[in-house]
Amino acid sequence: MFHFVALKGNEMKQTLKQQLTITREQRNKYYLKQIQKLSEEREVLYSDVIKPILKNIKAITSANNIDINSGMTTNGYLINSDMLAFLKKHNHRNFQITLDGNKERHNRVRYSKNDHNTFDVIVNNIKNCIKNQFYVSVRLNISSNTNIDVEELLRDFISLSEIERSFLCFSIHKVWQEPDEVEVIVDDTKEKIRLMGFNAVTYHSNPTTIKNTCYADKTNHVTINPKGLIYKCTARDFTKENIEGYLLRNGVIKWEPIYYIRKDVSILMRDSCRECQILPICNGGCSQKKIENRDNKCLYNFDAKSKLEFAKKIIYSKILQQ
Ligand code: SF4
Repeated sequence: MFHFVALKGNEMKQTLKQQLTITREQRNKYYLKQIQKLSEEREVLYSDVIKPILKNIKAITSANNIDINSGMTTNGYLINSDMLAFLKKHNHRNFQITLDGNKERHNRVRYSKNDHNTFDVIVNNIKNCIKNQFYVSVRLNISSNTNIDVEELLRDFISLSEIERSFLCFSIHKVWQEPDEVEVIVDDTKEKIRLMGFNAVTYHSNPTTIKNTCYADKTNHVTINPKGLIYKCTARDFTKENIEGYLLRNGVIKWEPIYYIRKDVSILMRDSCRECQILPICNGGCSQKKIENRDNKCLYNFDAKSKLEFAKKIIYSKILQQ
């Protein structure tokens, strides 16, 4: 699984060449399942970088009998019908598009020089993706001052048929720096969306567990920036301190010590966790949290009530997904 981060024109060509070398030489080691492009959205980026990448990857994977699908995290503003037709032919399956709240708030936060109503453009593009049978995850990042009016937000999607709605899911998350109390707003927003007949998920619908780790915890995942710098976690800044490796000219990755620390960091090394009843669904968080939690603090402060609440939320979420 590869993440390409903010790819740009010429700078990317060498990285791409190296990356494809990895695909050919190490395809048994790196199962190429998903390519996710975290990109600045610009037409030049699409035509100069994303299109050639997808064309090359399709040629290589077809020749080597490798299944592939790709996804894109984007602001959704420049998606158009031609683009969707091309992506459809090149194994693209899903989009993650963020809305910064209701129209008024979104347009206040995300306006472009020539367009002060980016909300309507993005919502129309989301609907166009859905009508073309791409899965769209609409990400809503919640902080204590995000006042989402769910009814108003969904007004634009209400005309979608049941089948079309099956391609749409609202993914609601607390901004990670925000206090735990914000989870109440997250849950409330999720419930309201579901009551109106739409799919909605939160962290608890698909938690990081021993069985289901974050993509960044998997050994066959890499995040590649335009200069061939390798990262793992995509929820932290792509700074010098967070570099986990370097893509060499021969396509091999030279790993930094932090990569091996991440691979080895295990919840089973802590006595308190080994004996914990919710270990399988807690897992001490993702590898990033474990690396940052050097003094082995319990995510729930060893508080039985908090642990139980967490377990109940997951079970409740699973039951509702049945
Ligand atoms: S709840 Fe605390 S003690 Fe239990 S597995 Fe998670 S971090 Fe470890």
